[in-house]
Order: sequence, then C-alpha cells, then structure tokens
Amino acid sequence: MQESSPITAIKGIGPKSALNFNKAGIYTAGDLISYYPRTYDICEDPVAAGGLTVFDDGRLVAVEGRIERTLSVRYLRAFKITTGKIFSGGVYLDVTWYNMPFIRSQVKPGVTYVFRGRIRAKGNKIFLQQPKVYDLYDYEQLKKTYQPVYPLVRGLTENALKKALREVFFGSDHLDLSEDYLPSDMLQEYDLISRKDAVRGIHFPEGEEMLLKARRRLVFEEFFFFILMLKQMRETRLRKDHAYQLLPAAQTRQVLDSLPYELTGAQMRVWNEVSSDMASDAVMARLIQGDVGSGKTVIAFLALIQCAANGMQGALMVPTEVLARQHYEAFLNMCETARLPYEAVLLTGSLKASEKRAAYEKLESGSAPVVIGTHALITEKVEYRNLALVITDEQHRFGVNQRETLEQKGKTPHTIVMSATPIPRTLAVILYGDLDVSVIDEMPASRLPIKNAVVGASWRPKAYQFIAKQVSMGHQAYVICPMVEESEEIEAENVIDYAQTLQKSLQAMIPGICVEYLHGRMKAAEKQSVMERFSANEIQVLVSTTVVEVGVNVPNATVMMVENAERFGLAQLHQLRGRVGRGSAQSYCIFVYGIENEAVKKRLDILSSSNDGFEIARKDLELRGPGELFGLRQSGELNFQLADIYADAPVLQSAGDAAAKLLSEDPGLSSECGQQITHHMKMLASSAGNHDVL
Ligand code: ADP
Ligand code: MG
Repeated sequence: MQESSPITAIKGIGPKSALNFNKAGIYTAGDLISYYPRTYDICEDPVAAGGLTVFDDGRLVAVEGRIERTLSVRYLRAFKITTGKIFSGGVYLDVTWYNMPFIRSQVKPGVTYVFRGRIRAKGNKIFLQQPKVYDLYDYEQLKKTYQPVYPLVRGLTENALKKALREVFFGSDHLDLSEDYLPSDMLQEYDLISRKDAVRGIHFPEGEEMLLKARRRLVFEEFFFFILMLKQMRETRLRKDHAYQLLPAAQTRQVLDSLPYELTGAQMRVWNEVSSDMASDAVMARLIQGDVGSGKTVIAFLALIQCAANGMQGALMVPTEVLARQHYEAFLNMCETARLPYEAVLLTGSLKASEKRAAYEKLESGSAPVVIGTHALITEKVEYRNLALVITDEQHRFGVNQRETLEQKGKTPHTIVMSATPIPRTLAVILYGDLDVSVIDEMPASRLPIKNAVVGASWRPKAYQFIAKQVSMGHQAYVICPMVEESEEIEAENVIDYAQTLQKSLQAMIPGICVEYLHGRMKAAEKQSVMERFSANEIQVLVSTTVVEVGVNVPNATVMMVENAERFGLAQLHQLRGRVGRGSAQSYCIFVYGIENEAVKKRLDILSSSNDGFEIARKDLELRGPGELFGLRQSGELNFQLADIYADAPVLQSAGDAAAKLLSEDPGLSSECGQQITHHMKMLASSAGNHDVL
C-alpha cells in the first residue's frame, strides 16, 4: 500500500464506510496517517458510583458496575437516546448514550464492566454521559497505556479509525514509510526522530517520552512547510510590479467625520500606514494585529472606501456567515451616515442561487465596488472586474491557500490580513514572513475594563440572578455551554437542554424574557436568524457553543458567562470575553468551573488579572506541563493540526532557521532533497482544501 492509495485499499474499508472517512477529509492512506489524535487518555482507576455527587459535574470517571435490566432506547427530536441504570457500590447511577442504540445489545445485564464517561449534573441529580464500555480485563490492560482520542465526525467511529490505522501500520499490506522527506542532516541538527517513528508514535504511543518526541517532530514539519510555503508565496508575489495606486481620498475623511467616535491613536497610526501603502507603487501586504475589541473593522472599511473612491473593487472575506452579514450591514450603515453612494454586495454560501447570480453580475460588471462575504468569495464562479484590494478578517480561520486563491482573483491586489491572535513580533515575523506588521495596541478610551469573576458551580443561581438584573436594565447576555468533545450532537443536545432550564429560571424573575440557543449543527439560515434577533435585542440571553467566538459584535451584551471554563484554553476564553465590553456600559465575565481544584482556579485567575491576550497565553503555558500539551482544546488560532504557536515557540524558531538555511543553500529547491520537499509541499497544498474546516 502507498500513501496515495485510496482508503478502500485498506482491508475492511468498503466504498460505503469510505464515505464516512471522506467526511473527515480522509481520502487516502496518507490522509489517514496524518489524521492525528486530538488528545490522549490515560485511564484512571475505576471508582464506585456511591462517592459521586453533583460537584463531579464534567468529570471524566471510570465506574465499575453492572446493569441489571436491559437498556431502553427512546427517541427525542433527531436523537436516539439509550438509558439505563448502573448498579455500583451499592447505588444506582443513571447512564445515557446518544445515537448509539446498538449499545443495548452490547451491554449484557448482570455482567460487570467498566463504564468510562463524563458525569453530568442536572438539577440535583447526576448521570453518566456517553461512557465507553470495557471488559474488566481489557480495562486493566488499558490502564497502562496512552489511549489516542480522535476528532470524530458523524458516521466515523473511533473503532473504525483505530482498526484502519492498525491495518495501515501493522497489516499484511502495510505502508512503507521508510522514506523521509526531511534530509537526515536536518533531523540530526534539530534532534528530530524519523517520520516513520513519529507517525507511528503519535498513533500508537509507547510512553510519554516517545509521544513527546513524535509530537515534536511532527510539529516541526508542520511549521517548516508552512514557513516554506509562505516564503514561496512571497517570491511569486512580485511585490514591485503592477501595483494599483489607490490614492488617499476625501471620502475617507467624510467617513471619519461621520463616525460616532474618534479613532484611537493606534487606529489612526495603523490607518495612515494602510492608506499610504495603498497609494504607493508597491503591492501592500500587511498584517493588522489587534486584540479583540481594539477596532480593526473600521480600518478595513476605510481601506475599502479608499479603494472604491479610486474606482476599483475591494473584497472583505470573513470566516462565518453571521459575521459576513454583520459586517455587510455595518458597512452599508456607515456609507449611509457618511452619505457615500457605494454599492456593496454580500456573498455567502447560503444565498439563493438567484441572489448569488445577481451578486456575481454586479462584481463582474463592476457596478459594486465592495463585496463582503465568506469563502464563497473564492469559489470558481466569481469574476471581478477590477479587484485591487483583498482583506481577510480573523485570518487564522482560513488556510494560507484560501487567502492566496482570493488574491489571485485580482491582478496583484493589495492585501490586508487582520488577526486577533496575540503573538509577539518576533514570532509574527516568522509566521507571517511575507507581511508587514501593524499593531493596534490601544483600546478605545470609552471602554470600562471588564469585571471578571471566577466561581464554582454552586454560584450558578447567583449568576442567573445577576443576568436577570442586567436584562432588566436593558442589557443582554451570552452563556457559553460546556464544551463536549465526544461529539457535536451531544453538544447540541446539551445546549438545547441548558437553554430550556435557563429559560425557566429566568422566566421566574423576568416574565417574557427570551432565551435562545445557537450550536454548530444548526443550518446557516437558522444561525443567522438567531444572531439577527439577538442583535436586535429580541433575544435577551443567547445560550451557545463557541460558535460565537469569532468576531460578532453586539455592543449591548454586557454579560459573558462560561460554563465549565476549565475545559477551554485561556486564549479561547479571552476571545470569548472579547464579545462583551464593546459598548459604553460596564460588562462582566463569569467563568464557572465545574471541577473544584486549585490548579484550575489558578489558571482561570490569570484571566482576572490580565486583559492582555499575549500575556494570558504566555502565563497559561507556564502553568501547563509538557504532558498537558495535548488535551486542552487549542485556541483555534492558525490552522495547525498539532502545533501550538505558544507552546511550540522554540520549535517554530528552529523550523524557521531550518527553512532559511535550506533556501540559502538551495534557493530553487532543485537538489534531490529540495525536490522531495517541493513534492511534499504540493501534496499538502492539494489536500489543504479537504482539511480546512470553516
Ligand atoms: P475587533 O478589533 O475585535 O474586530 P471591532 O472592530 O469589532 O473590534 O470593534 C469593536 C467595537 O468597538 C465596535 O462596536 C466598534 O464600533 C467600536 N469601536 C471601534 N473603534 C472605536 C473607537 N475608536 N472608539 C469607540 N468605539 C470604537
Ligand atoms: Mg473583528
């Protein structure tokens, strides 16, 4: 078998189950081996259910016990729910599985098993959610090992994945991975293990030391190829040629005069940099970095206006439909207030075919100088009349390739990427080697600092009272539900449940209050309608998964409450916090932790003590040991599979060195090893489309 072999070449995978793999972006044996575990489980000693209470909400436990009666299956909305009772340590513990009706025939009454899953509290009762079931003997064996945990998609089970991986590595027709695309002197110089050992080690780890070595090698190559691709892009960019000169225009002054606020000093400085870049005869390629809430959007809008005033087209690409629509409306408002005649079009995947056609038409004819949209902007059909400016917002959500594709739609358009990723300049230079960097390092003065509280679950009723009080003052709140890593379906179910419970509690205090929910499995149109109603204050409390994390702007929202905050990376919590404190009213963050534990509290306290994204990320890292590199959901910044720009900053530095050295010795990558590297880079580029999750 070869890396390019289709997965159907793997024993046990037929055309039908192949489709499930495809959903996860796995088409070939090579895709499969680079589908890395999300984290690893170290199985703990089983406990008896008698000692568990509501304070264990969210805890992953292994319960030894047996069911006495056959499990029952019922249907609730789109969910198949299997329930039963585990008898353990003299008490009964409720157990629930979602969409696994087959479990009923697998768990035999009277047989003692180990059930391993999360404890959930509902009111004053607890239940075990979605446990995996093990024979006692198997569990004893597992206790000594690191168990990989894979990200799953609907239809693709962990068992199917693991079985396929065993075939690929150890089956009779296994992959030959003895060739390494990194040259051996590079491996030696940077103390890296071979590719073969690394991929095997990441899927079948033999102890912590091996696992960390495997990870380090794979992180290195992720960075290395990323940096090489950026360097190549820079070369093809032809910075000096054919730049559109977009001269400063009176219209931007008009906008500035009509804004309800003054730009901060930092915004003004960055805007001046952008404006004069656009007017020069070199192609602009600039990164605007600024913490959440620092006011990046208005800079993008001003750039679009300067572009339009010069008779050219500009595009703003954002990662979600909700955000696209929000920006689009804000842009129209701004033009109206400033009495500017520019037409803007919105382009997102969920528009009707006729609406899309109308948008294409306006872009092709040039009647619309501004387009705002999602990655629909880069689909084949869109042709621009004279695209001279390309802006990507929240750029970490897009692969480098997508950005590049949009840029290719113009001749040599000016480009701006905007990011809230807090990274120090030294790392930014390596990561965004092809860009000039502007930093908005000042918050609008009208903002009051957000007040933070880090509290245990017993504080929840008080939090609800607090939300009710804010709502009665005319404000709004977000509640972010516990993150469920096992599956999006359970996550959705939890959000719906939570919203119902919350609605009941709040209703008692404020009759008529509207609580709604938002989760990743909803259709785009539904999400959009909920977001619009929240923006219009028709919904006062929005219960959500982290869908809201990116960029949305509802300045009237003053409370952000996060359940099970310990399960989030601090950088991600900081992003969530950025959703409030956007208006002039005092805002509050309530981080509720489900697990009472000093280390957890200490980590979360970092958030109270700092409002500086980079500082938070750095301190978070100090507290995490190397064994914790896996597990915490990554902050979502930059699309690396394994690498974390903070935790792996030293590896990033090495990879940057290695890339620079290679290119200085072999600029055209024409040596044998250069060619091998180029080949691999092409493979990465061609599969990137499958892996980008937007
Ligand atoms: P981000 O940098 O996170 O994208 P936004 O551009 O969405 O931030 O701005 C956040 C909020 O701050 C918006 O409501 C915007 O209108 C407002 N804002 C931007 N600049 C200023 C300023 N100089 N003074 C007051 N409010 C501002
Ligand atoms: Mg933004």
